[in-house]
Amino acid sequence: MEKCTRCGKPLRGVVIVMELSNTDGCYYLGSIPHGHVSQGGFPFGERCAVLEGTDTVLSLSNRIAESYKKTNEDLQRKVL
Ligand SMILES: [Zn+2]
Repeated sequence: MEKCTRCGKPLRGVVIVMELSNTDGCYYLGSIPHGHVSQGGFPFGERCAVLEGTDTVLSLSNRIAESYKKTNEDLQRKVL
């Protein structure tokens, strides 16, 4: 029987396939971001798909925040 990628429990009922990006190691619903290399689709239970999707959102926000912070610090160094 197929197992959930996140929790390892056998999958019953709804199975959601998420695509793993080899580029950032995150699982995406639908397709991975443009330019990322795909590791293929992996099965999740509904609840774990939601949790995994949330992890991906947090990881993306952190990366965007990091890159913004750096840009802003560079600007501050020039201006102040
Ligand atoms: Zn699971």
